[in-house]
Amino acid sequence: MPKESSLMDKIVSLCKRRGFIFQGSEIYGGVGSTYDYGPLGVELKMNIKNAWWTSMTHRSDIVGLDAAILMHPKVWEASGHVDGFTDPMIDCKQCKSRFREDDLSQKNIESGQCPKCGTKDSLTEARQFNLMFKTHIGPVEDSSSIAYLRPETAQGIYVNFKNVLDTSRQKVPFGIAQIGKAFRNEITPGNFIFRTREFEQMEMQYFVHPEDDEKYFEIWKEERLKWYDELGINKAKLRLHEHSEDELAHYAKKAFDIEYEFPFGWKELEGIHNRTDFDLKRHIKFSGKKLDYFDEKNNERFVPYIIETSAGVDRTTLTCLVDAYEEEEVKGEKRVVLKFNSKIAPIKVGIFPLVNKDGLPEIAEKISKDISKNFAIFYDSKGAIGRRYRRMDEAGTPFGITVDYQTLEDGTVTLRDRDTMAQDRIPAERLSGELTKKFSS
Ligand code: ATP
Repeated sequence: MPKESSLMDKIVSLCKRRGFIFQGSEIYGGVGSTYDYGPLGVELKMNIKNAWWTSMTHRSDIVGLDAAILMHPKVWEASGHVDGFTDPMIDCKQCKSRFREDDLSQKNIESGQCPKCGTKDSLTEARQFNLMFKTHIGPVEDSSSIAYLRPETAQGIYVNFKNVLDTSRQKVPFGIAQIGKAFRNEITPGNFIFRTREFEQMEMQYFVHPEDDEKYFEIWKEERLKWYDELGINKAKLRLHEHSEDELAHYAKKAFDIEYEFPFGWKELEGIHNRTDFDLKRHIKFSGKKLDYFDEKNNERFVPYIIETSAGVDRTTLTCLVDAYEEEEVKGEKRVVLKFNSKIAPIKVGIFPLVNKDGLPEIAEKISKDISKNFAIFYDSKGAIGRRYRRMDEAGTPFGITVDYQTLEDGTVTLRDRDTMAQDRIPAERLSGELTKKFSS
């Protein structure tokens, strides 16, 4: 493996080189830590979201939702975000750098010394900075038209609790899952797509009887760790971190982060929270609507507790990239390969005619047409075959099919395995079955 310090640089550069992720508005010099997902990145991200969506909703006790990003401003008063969704911000008067107070050392805070330019007594007092992006609905920009870009997707689920309950015939315990964009005006975004101002969340809120909260909290902790394992993430690089009393958010009774060991340290990948009945009770108070639950079997009325699993799509994408990245020495040359689990690989099969003549492209094109019915493929007929393999290794493509002169004689092709680089000859007509077998094992 490459040295930790340079691994992020290598991944950022690979992402640009191969079309996974570009800097947002790049031709204008970029803007405030935003990123655009290119052709490979969007497939990778989509596969991650699909894996999450399937694991959450292909069961009888969880249903999906897609709520609007813009919500009534009262939602954010009820949730506590208008008053409390702040980070303490400190500026350096000398070099104008900006820090989150909790990112500074006690020594820096006490001496007022800027960690960037080293000037003593240059740090300002901490000011509370609200992370919500504000906008206005309609043409008049006054206080009655204020709206916020949602800083989390969860509230869209809470305000629809009753709608879903009344229409989906679910009974507590049950969950609502949602994937969507969230926005936070982070003071110090950074580490590529780890912390950005616009990002995507995959959140599931599980509504339970208040006495069952701890049981379901434990169940979801295990379920979520298992999901990363199924994505092929190295277990040794995942751990749980329990929030101490002073780390707990205002709504949480208990919280664990799933952390991944990124090249820049152990960081949060997903939060699992016992939010109690805080959110529903706040919405009952602010909206004046009944958001409780009647359990017919036990003739009992209660406000459910909520166990939340809140994962970041972009952080999971970064985790998959970091975790899959490997450099190997092959015949005196460096091979860079993304060893993605085949479930999330953006392209499943690369298809190559050895040369661009003698009828080989026609056979390869026919194979492409057949295979693409079931798998995402990439057809590449240009350049030396070794180079084409390397490009597919960098894209994380699990298999490559090469049509060569022997194909003309006996109808067989080579099937190359990305990880072992082993090449097997198999009859072209058996490809579909063989690939299906390989991808499902
Ligand atoms: P952090 O402490 O890193 O700011 P958080 O505790 O505020 O994260 P949550 O509010 O629990 O995060 O959000 C749930 C998930 O959403 C996080 O685990 C993360 O994956 C993702 N997320 C939150 N903020 C960002 C961001 N600015 N950029 C990318 N992903 C984010």
